[in-house]
Amino acid sequence: MEEGFERLAPPRRGEWRSLFREKEQTFEDYLARCANRRTAARSLIVLQPLGTRAPVLDRMAEYAEAFFGLAVRVRPTLPLADQAHVPTRDQYNSSMVLDDLAGRAPADALVYLGIADRDLFARGRKFVFGEGSLDRRTGVCSLARLASPDPEAVDRRALKLMTHEAGHILSIAHCVTHRCVMQGSNTLDESDGHPLHLCPADLRKLAWNTGVDPDARYRRLQAFYEKSGWTADAEWIARQLAKRSVLGTGGER
Ligand SMILES: [Zn+2]
Ligand SMILES: [Zn+2]
Repeated sequence: MEEGFERLAPPRRGEWRSLFREKEQTFEDYLARCANRRTAARSLIVLQPLGTRAPVLDRMAEYAEAFFGLAVRVRPTLPLADQAHVPTRDQYNSSMVLDDLAGRAPADALVYLGIADRDLFARGRKFVFGEGSLDRRTGVCSLARLASPDPEAVDRRALKLMTHEAGHILSIAHCVTHRCVMQGSNTLDESDGHPLHLCPADLRKLAWNTGVDPDARYRRLQAFYEKSGWTADAEWIARQLAKRSVLGTGGER
């Protein structure tokens, strides 16, 4: 049942998919290669402020709990790894930050995500919004490029980026089939156009990985969006819930 989920048209020039030809990660691929699955001992989302702790961290923690159905802990702030800083461009190498973080991942963290206040780049790229390892439980994202005169836009961007990178850390690859929060993005405009939600295929991966109940998850997200004044998002969820109750299915199979 795909109502409310749009299939992607071919990419426009400059969009992520026009530059990076990524293959679809099917559910079967995911089952075969998922390198980071929830266990009883490893079930937390741990957010790691890097540099200064942005006020949006508290919203991120609350949203992560609703979105992933996992308990969330925010760790005390750490400095960004000095060795990752490249003075000539005044940016941090995301892979080096990630290497540094991977060595610090708490044993009970299913997802350990650094939230940096400075700009990141990766080899061959002017900048990156973030980088999530599909097999090391670790990732990093940056708030540096999310600025807008509209505080709500910044908040939305930060939450979207967090779920995208945490999705990667749960071994979910870029989505190339649907409008979905797991779509790759090359520019802020492109990611602003992406929805907050997971497509059915990626929601199925999340549910398999974490055991989250999709309906309970939608209800939590609905409450979060309502509280945030994000009416269109709350209504989208309400339509999904209504559809699911008509179908009488507890899940997307
Ligand atoms: Zn990505
Ligand atoms: Zn998707």
